[in-house]
Amino acid sequence: MTLQGKSAVVTGSSSGIGLGIARALAGQGANIMLNGFGDTPETIEKLKAEITALGVKAAYSPADVGNPAQVAQMIEEAAKAFGSVDILVNNAGIQFVAPIEEFPIEKWNAVIATNLSSAFYSSHSAVPGMRKKGWGRIINIASAHGLVGSPGKAAYVAAKHGIVGLTKVVGLELAGTGVTSNAICPGWVLTPLVQKQIDAIAARDGLTNAQASEKLLEEKQPSKQFVTPEQIGKLVIFLCSDGADQITGSAYSIDGGWVAR
Ligand code: NAD
Repeated sequence: MTLQGKSAVVTGSSSGIGLGIARALAGQGANIMLNGFGDTPETIEKLKAEITALGVKAAYSPADVGNPAQVAQMIEEAAKAFGSVDILVNNAGIQFVAPIEEFPIEKWNAVIATNLSSAFYSSHSAVPGMRKKGWGRIINIASAHGLVGSPGKAAYVAAKHGIVGLTKVVGLELAGTGVTSNAICPGWVLTPLVQKQIDAIAARDGLTNAQASEKLLEEKQPSKQFVTPEQIGKLVIFLCSDGADQITGSAYSIDGGWVAR
């Protein structure tokens, strides 16, 4: 238990990668502020029970991460409930796929707000407490699309490149304070966000789910295997460890070789 006594806010932790990260952090003894959008009270209670069963405290915020006032309130509530926010994982994200000339302006605004501005809002609120304590970890879940582009993903790729840039600036501003800022850049992870894209390929090309998954992987990910939320959780734990004290402003690929070619 390397994170006993620490507390974490993990945005978008009611599903997929965020949930994997919340489980990993709680497994190391960190209290967890869960967050997500549109979840039923039953789902939230089940998730909270799962986290507290690991011997830590759990709270939940329904904050829309694209709303600055709600994000500030979430950070404040976590600090009040746990005493501090030591670890901030900016994970909540959405996807929308369309060619540039058909990309709806409201979808552009929603993706930028949820995937990029959100991390500015939460870092802005959480950094003062971390700086005061002389210890903190900000981990931004970017994407392989934070490092390379793909057609149809104008807003997502712009937001993810933006979050890699924000990670660098925060890392530089806080260098030497005990607070680090790093990004994780996953390749394909089989979550609801990606299942929607597999469904779209299956419908477009008349393929089964297995064939469409294979097609999706083949195009980008040389390992042809999905990254798992558990593997990303383990990378987060490493970035929270003492061994990572001097790692800041970096972007870590975990993508089966996607950006190596
Ligand atoms: P997911 O759809 O399974 O989970 C997304 C989470 O974000 C959910 O908990 C949802 O409730 C929450 N969320 C969405 N909009 C929100 C909002 N406005 N306010 C608060 N919460 C909100 O998706 P996932 O695949 O687990 O993605 C998590 C992150 O990982 C995203 O930032 C995504 O871009 C990134 N990512 C995913 C993959 C992948 O292959 N799945 C690859 C690279 C990066």
